[in-house]
Amino acid sequence: MIAAPCGQLAIAAALFRAVDALRVEVEGDPSGRERQRLLAVVCPPGSVCWLCGGARGPIVLGLRRGHPLGPSMDHVVPRSMGGSWDLSNLRPAHFGCNSARGARDPQQLDLSGAYRDAG
Ligand SMILES: [Zn+2]
Repeated sequence: MIAAPCGQLAIAAALFRAVDALRVEVEGDPSGRERQRLLAVVCPPGSVCWLCGGARGPIVLGLRRGHPLGPSMDHVVPRSMGGSWDLSNLRPAHFGCNSARGARDPQQLDLSGAYRDAG
């Protein structure tokens, strides 16, 4: 381990952040921390799920990870079809609605099975 002066550590931290930002642009997959930041922007308290239009109730923050009524970011153009992580391609959605949609057209969505275990 090499002891580095504070200035070098700050430079290293800035470099890591720059690399992180670059990775989002190049590979299109933000880090976990970046996803959390995006989720807070895309899905603030009171958000309405764009897939069910609120038919399943509000998106509920603070539930266990993966709860069907919990928050998620849905890609309008799915990642598998080249959709980006740009804010213009992200919409708030229930985790359950998002999972049920997969890469399908939202117009052809059948959400009937998505909430079986939503207790
Ligand atoms: Zn929904």
